[in-house]
Amino acid sequence: MKSRHNYRPVYRLFSLFVVGLLVCATGVCAEVATPEQFFGFKLGTDKKLARYDKIVEYLQKLAGQSDRVRVRNLGPTTLGNPYLLVEISSPENLRNLEHYKSLERKLYFQGGAPTDAERDEIFKSGKAVVLVTNNLHSTEIGSSQAIVELIHRLATDNSDGVKKILDNVVFLTVPSANPDGQILVTDWYNKVVDTPNESSPLPVLYHYYVGHDDNRDMFLFSQKESALAAGILWHDWFPSVWLDEHQQGSDGSRIFTMPARDPINPNVDPLIYRWEAILGTSQAAALDAEGKTGVIHNVSYDSYYVGAFGWTGWWHNQVGMLTEVASARIASPIYQQRATLSLSSSQAAASGGGGAAGGGRGTGAGRGAGAGRGAAPAAAGVDASPGAGGGRGGTQEQPLPAPTDITPRNDYLQPWLGGKWTLGDIVDYEVTATYALLETAADRRETLLRDIYKVNLDTIEKGRKGELGRGSEKAYGVLIPVSEQHDPAEAVELVDKLIGGGVEVYRAKNEFKQDEKTYAAGTFVVPFTQVFARYAKDLLERQTFPQVRVTPESDPIPPYDVSSWSLGLQFGVRTDFAKTALDSSLALERVTVTPKWPLAAANNGNGWSFAYTGAQSALLVNRLLKGGAAVRLTKPDSAGIPTALVTAKPEVWTKAVEGFEIRAGAAAGKAPPRPAVATTLRAPRVGLYQPWGGNQDEGWTRWLLEHYSFDYTTLHNKDVQAGKLRQRFDAIILPSQRGTALLTGNTAQSVLPEYRGGIGDDGWQALLDFAAEGGTIIAFGESTNVLIEKLPLGVKNLKRTLTVQEHHAPGTIVNLQVDTSHPVGLGAARETYGFYVNSPFFETVEGFSSQKVSVVARYPNTTVLASGWLRGDELMQGRAAVVAIDENPGKIVLFGIQPQNRAQTHATLPLLFNALYWSAEGDVNIAGQ
Ligand SMILES: [Zn+2]
Repeated sequence: MKSRHNYRPVYRLFSLFVVGLLVCATGVCAEVATPEQFFGFKLGTDKKLARYDKIVEYLQKLAGQSDRVRVRNLGPTTLGNPYLLVEISSPENLRNLEHYKSLERKLYFQGGAPTDAERDEIFKSGKAVVLVTNNLHSTEIGSSQAIVELIHRLATDNSDGVKKILDNVVFLTVPSANPDGQILVTDWYNKVVDTPNESSPLPVLYHYYVGHDDNRDMFLFSQKESALAAGILWHDWFPSVWLDEHQQGSDGSRIFTMPARDPINPNVDPLIYRWEAILGTSQAAALDAEGKTGVIHNVSYDSYYVGAFGWTGWWHNQVGMLTEVASARIASPIYQQRATLSLSSSQAAASGGGGAAGGGRGTGAGRGAGAGRGAAPAAAGVDASPGAGGGRGGTQEQPLPAPTDITPRNDYLQPWLGGKWTLGDIVDYEVTATYALLETAADRRETLLRDIYKVNLDTIEKGRKGELGRGSEKAYGVLIPVSEQHDPAEAVELVDKLIGGGVEVYRAKNEFKQDEKTYAAGTFVVPFTQVFARYAKDLLERQTFPQVRVTPESDPIPPYDVSSWSLGLQFGVRTDFAKTALDSSLALERVTVTPKWPLAAANNGNGWSFAYTGAQSALLVNRLLKGGAAVRLTKPDSAGIPTALVTAKPEVWTKAVEGFEIRAGAAAGKAPPRPAVATTLRAPRVGLYQPWGGNQDEGWTRWLLEHYSFDYTTLHNKDVQAGKLRQRFDAIILPSQRGTALLTGNTAQSVLPEYRGGIGDDGWQALLDFAAEGGTIIAFGESTNVLIEKLPLGVKNLKRTLTVQEHHAPGTIVNLQVDTSHPVGLGAARETYGFYVNSPFFETVEGFSSQKVSVVARYPNTTVLASGWLRGDELMQGRAAVVAIDENPGKIVLFGIQPQNRAQTHATLPLLFNALYWSAEGDVNIAGQ
């Protein structure tokens, strides 16, 4: 609850944290220490890293001495470190920064469209506002060093070139977008450097909860750092350009610059893609001019996905950009055998998506790639976790194989041919590329502003005509009725996310008609006559991933990332797209503060009752249980919804419903005088398995459990192996892990011994004992494989034998039918949506008489695909997605879908939460049969 409104508190904090005030009257103070003087080494020196806390200290000191630099602390990160925004411009511009900010905000139509006079003033005197975010992925650490060098240069260099930049650009930069991880990686590196375990991977995720997936949170803003970035982007500064700096694998090109490869997204204005190419190409040219080779574009990363840093800017009419520089082994050099240039063109290299990027992308999976590389995407070499991967060689004694992508071509004019590559090279490439971006933004300031204005104006005009995007169907806005939702609280959750992304959301003051339907007063309305309409549309509509083929005969190229996000579907919220123009007389009220969660509840004399309909119900239940209340569930009513009956002290109830708005609803107070109680809810004792090496699926689950107020205990291999688990736990959760990683873990010799291996035979036996003694094992996605293969279960995994040509779903929203009479299905919608990523799907098998095998959720007999990309739809039809097995006393719940994927899948969270309650239930027969 407390993190829901992060973006607004951030905004309020802005004026309070100006650390560096103007100290020097003109120019630059002579006493400004260089980074080398301050840190004691030149940034980029082999095996030396500037730690984030020292970077903060240096930048604050610099800001105190320079009238070109300001530093603001936007608030604490997840682990309590300062999240810094540095603002750099000419002294004159900084003195009038609020004025230039107001021009930039007006460019993005904040507070209404600019008048003609305001527009002309923006073109004449507005600045190019450029945001550069660094080091989001913590092992990709070079940019946290490079940015310090660049800031120092801008603060002290009196050349005409720097003056031009400072006069024309307001440069905003976040030195590390994940400060906690920067510190973690620096300390880890210092621990292992120059030891035999120098390439031992980090034992934990480098973002405390979500690891590498901190680059997949830019529409949910679940993590503090994402919300802080959203605050800069869509509530404070509205930068026109946003570059996010990353590192890729070590063995191919040296730097990726924009543009990215196909497919493009139909909702993005073409001018935005064009500006990516203008700015990206200017970066490439600057690198060429310095004789830096290995500059590539139009590969690997497609131009489609909405949830990544930088990328998200496109739908906000911001020029979102990416650089990916080849990695060293953190700060240790990489050595690679040398190749000879090949002048014969090869199909693989020329195909754009090929080359070093190869196949096997689909970082959407990203999760549970085994204990060793859980934090890194599936594809080695693409935005990988460098150095931390371990076992890939690259030392002087064991150099990497020579590069294979060695044919010069338009996208890759001067291929990298191998040799030594250092942190210093990364810093050099990044300083050059970032400086070039600023220089071009300065040179083309007015054209950039004019084009952004045009895109913003066009967006609103097209929204007015219902013509946004490139589909044939007209769409004028989105209507989100509240009271008609299965779980009205989720409609509010959805609105909260939209507001976080800067979308203007309104409430209808009165009942109204649209497309022949009647909508109640209080319906949320998102008109497309707004500057961020492209974002709202893309976020809420169903995705149809474009079919891009290298040749007409070849298979379509699968997405780089997940293929669907449709947030309404994922939240289980009905979102109606207006097919005709919204009534101009419609009385609307802007929603500026996210409303409370609606809750159908009533006091029925002896206590309270409320409709048990979704994830927020679990939050309420957990708060009540912690307050000592008794909570029972009735059998579902005719609509499939159980009622929760609460006996609690009034103060416990009052505290528990904080954030909820009580209203009489369909299920409120409808409990019969002597209701048929199905089950008593108890707080489950939860163990959450955490593999060494970091596992994002575990991290997201951990975040969710905390967010919804479930207590849990983290279990490492030794804790599982110690046995006697049933004495401590009702449920043990196994996050998704590939193959046999649960059992074997990462066995590479480079891994420090204490982090090597999985739960092993002892741990496996302990899990079997746990189940035999009545414990509940809950497995997600890939982890269901181990249970199915090693246990006699009345379930078969149908995915196991299918090739990628037969069946492939790289992050797809699917239709689900839920058995809401089963304990695990209680309160869910009967027809809903799940998130599926190439994991098992099941059929049940006869002949296991000791087991009661129940299909909790299945795919429909008709179309499975709800949004995104799915090859082999028919193979899943009618099959099981979630299976619950009661072995009396033990239980096993197999989630073939990801019920908690990236914390986005609110519609299926109840299935996970119910499974936890089921584990604590003892012998009560809940179905009441
Ligand atoms: Zn990265």
